Order: sequence, then C-alpha cells, then structure tokens
Amino acid sequence: MANIELKNVRKAFGALEVIKGIDLTIRKGEFMVFVGPSGCGKSTLLRLVAGLETITSGDLIFDGERMNNLVPSKRGIAMVFQSYALYPHMNVYDNMAFGMKLANSHPPEIRKRVERAAEMLQIGHLLDRLPKQLSGGQRQRVAIGRAIVRDPRVFLFDEPLSNLDAALRVATRLEIAKLHHDMQDVTMIYVTHDQVEAMTLADRICVLRDGVVEQVGTPSELYEHPKSLFVAGFIGSPK
Ligand code: ADP
Ligand code: MG
Repeated sequence: MANIELKNVRKAFGALEVIKGIDLTIRKGEFMVFVGPSGCGKSTLLRLVAGLETITSGDLIFDGERMNNLVPSKRGIAMVFQSYALYPHMNVYDNMAFGMKLANSHPPEIRKRVERAAEMLQIGHLLDRLPKQLSGGQRQRVAIGRAIVRDPRVFLFDEPLSNLDAALRVATRLEIAKLHHDMQDVTMIYVTHDQVEAMTLADRICVLRDGVVEQVGTPSELYEHPKSLFVAGFIGSPK
C-alpha cells in the first residue's frame, strides 16, 4: 500500500530550482534510502516531506490524502537530524517528553511512552542527565527516542550517523534496523552518504542526481543493474 506519493514535486529557492520534478511512491512500512552527492537535494526533499519547507509545485500524498499545505505537527512524521538538536538545558526525560507536553498529552501517558522508548534504546538509566553529560552516541539515541515517543507513522533520518565514530556508527545502524523491524508499518526514509548503510538498511534505494531521481530499486537491483556509471559509483559495482 502506498504511504507517501510524490507527484512531480518541485522546489525552488528563488531562481534556484533544487528539486526538479520527482515522482516516487514509498510503501507503508518500507525502508527507503536516499543517496546522492552533496547538494543534490536530499535534505531539501526530507524537509518537504516533513513540512519544514513548502513545495513549489506538484503534490505530496500521504495515505491517499493531499498534504501539500498541512503543518508539520499534523503529518505524523518525526525527523532525526545529524546534529541531534537536543535542548541543552533539559534533561533526557524532558527532551523526550517535550513534543507530547506541547500536544497536552496526559502526564501518565507521557511517562509510559518515554519509558518504553528509553527501554527500546537502552537509555533508561540516562533519563536524569543533561545532553552535555552524554556521549555522541547516547545523544543520538535520545534524538531517536524523542522521535519514537511521538509515535509517528513516518520516520525521517538525515545522515543520523555521520557525527559518530566508526564503532558507534555500526551499533547505531543496527539499532535503527531493529527499530524498523520492531515497528511494523512505520515507514522510514533515510538519507546517507554511506554505501554500507544504504545497502544494509534499505528495502529500496533511490539515487538522486541534481534534483531528479536517477534510479530507484532494491539494493541488489542497483548493484547488479546500475543504469549509469553515476549509480554504479554510489552502489559500488563495477560496470
Ligand atoms: P544535500 O542534502 O543533498 O546535500 P540540500 O538539500 O541541503 O542538499 O541542498 C540542495 C541545494 O539547495 C544546495 O544547492 C543548497 O545550497 C540549496 N539550498 C538548500 N536549502 C536552501 C535554502 N533554505 N535557501 C537557499 N538555498 C538552499
Ligand atoms: Mg543534506
């Protein structure tokens, strides 16, 4: 079943067109990975889906419903950034609870959800700490936990591992794979530079080039049948 459909989506910043007509269907529960060179529009595309930027033309459809102008908080989407973006003056619990408090959820429900997410990510013992008292990997878990607490139907990840060292990158990648496995029907859209992340996490990979889709397919389809040297360069198969 289609969860997110992009129909001829375009985005320009002034005279600069960055997203140049993207047609793509992402299925419910799918793990879709975007790869492409720096500046090709990956982050912009995520921000359009999240509603942090408005599209210039085209349509964004969620579960069959047009969402072009829906505010971010109504989209059921949570975004995890490369830079964590935690509130420095709030402890881990309050960082994770913040979105639900804003939405006026009941305190016992907030506590239940924060504790469940903390347990999933094994950060239950860190709830009283401030972000500055955490390692980079722990901070990224808190950022992921904060997204889980909101119970989104779609997770967006923008290069979430790029600030972590190699060992933590692997551990956190496995964590994200497990999350996807555990959260049936939750769609994940994930931007990365890293070939291994793309090949191991993706149900499908979408290769972006200068604001358009160059090729989309399963990791093995792209690996075995890259349509261009450009794709082969990203997926690592000699052509
Ligand atoms: P990527 O994430 O693939 O590296 P981005 O989506 O961040 O690429 O950027 C794509 C292009 O859009 C770049 O040329 C960037 O400078 C430009 N861009 C992104 N955001 C803005 C903005 N708010 N205003 C103007 N130009 C922007
Ligand atoms: Mg980016």
